Amino acid sequence: MEAPETLAEFLPGAAAITVLTGAGISTDSGIPDFRGPQGVWTKDPAAEALSTIGSYVADPDVRRRAWRARLDDPVWKAEPNEAHAALAELERAGRLRALITQNIDGLHQRAGSSDAKVIEIHGSVREAVCLTCGLRTPMPEILARVSAGEDDPPCADCGGVQKSATISFGQALDQDVLDAAIIASRECDLFLAVGTSLTVQPAAGLCLEAVDHGARLVIVNAEETPYDGIADAVLRRPIGETLPRLAGLALGAGGRPR
Ligand SMILES: [Zn+2]
Repeated sequence: MEAPETLAEFLPGAAAITVLTGAGISTDSGIPDFRGPQGVWTKDPAAEALSTIGSYVADPDVRRRAWRARLDDPVWKAEPNEAHAALAELERAGRLRALITQNIDGLHQRAGSSDAKVIEIHGSVREAVCLTCGLRTPMPEILARVSAGEDDPPCADCGGVQKSATISFGQALDQDVLDAAIIASRECDLFLAVGTSLTVQPAAGLCLEAVDHGARLVIVNAEETPYDGIADAVLRRPIGETLPRLAGLALGAGGRPR
């Protein structure tokens, strides 16, 4: 299953690497995995209602609880880790085609990845969006209003309901964002899936797009994934150690992944 020799052969030659990251890359930064066994939703089903668009729009009490939860979100205190930093280094070296992420925490950009490369398929908590007029506002501005006493701050332009600019349950993905992710998956020579179970669409399908278009597939994840069998290498090791090693190998800095 694992083939470090093969990695040493093809990583240095990978010129257009597309990376897909999931919750596993951010757990070392203190961001809980919502769906995992220790996940917020697993332990508190009521928390999931805060992320369901229908109840959010219909129920002001859900919105008030959601804004309080956003104030306390661990994301505001989280720092990017070594794995985020390694992907930023790949970009600086000109080897990154795109960095697709299922995460909404903004840690890739904080680590130095550029907005031009990061494709956030589930949106981002860094902005709030008005559900009526679409106005986007930096989240800190809205959270300052919540802290000042507005428990469900309306849109400054139209008075509409606002929420974080993330994809909630019941909401469609942004088609332009999804298209960009598909193209980046087709146009890479190496697809690196990190910290994602590859069981949720569209993430799982992106792997297949890459492989169908001739890319190598490398999976770094603690658990099995449905695509391990078609991967060129599967690494079930701590992400914070493994990604710097893989990046070092790709950039010719020596040091085989152990
Ligand atoms: Zn509005």
